[in-house]
Amino acid sequence: MELKFRRVFNNIKDHFFLKNTRIKLIFGSIWYGTAWSVRVGNYNFIKIDSNRYKKAKNSVIKGLLAHELSHAEYYNKLSFLNYIAFIIKYTLSKRYRIKTERETDITTIRKGFGKDLLALRNYSYKYGKGKYLKILKRNYLSIKEIKQYIKNK
Ligand SMILES: [Zn+2]
Repeated sequence: MELKFRRVFNNIKDHFFLKNTRIKLIFGSIWYGTAWSVRVGNYNFIKIDSNRYKKAKNSVIKGLLAHELSHAEYYNKLSFLNYIAFIIKYTLSKRYRIKTERETDITTIRKGFGKDLLALRNYSYKYGKGKYLKILKRNYLSIKEIKQYIKNK
């Protein structure tokens, strides 16, 4: 499973501007969502709850990694202090989380991974439950919106 993630990652990483940043994929369970991207100095860690993607096709994994790499690319543009400010806002403000996740989805589509994001969202709606599903529906683009953005890319 982890090998599959690493293989997809190597195939898509060059689509993202990550100058001076080293990306590290780590695997393990996550209490909030199923994956996150966080910057520490010159490293950007992408932690993935890979157990949630056991039934996922390549396209789903590509959608997930492209979304996380879009976060990483954004962090790469921020100064250290602006990154700290980002983390504080993201943690404290629901509205800011919604804005961030929707913009990250849009970046993912603009980068050419719209179909993969669509596959990811379909997969998450199918297998997601409870609070996770509620957050997913509130904070991220819907299937209909993704299709719309793909058309207008
Ligand atoms: Zn995200």
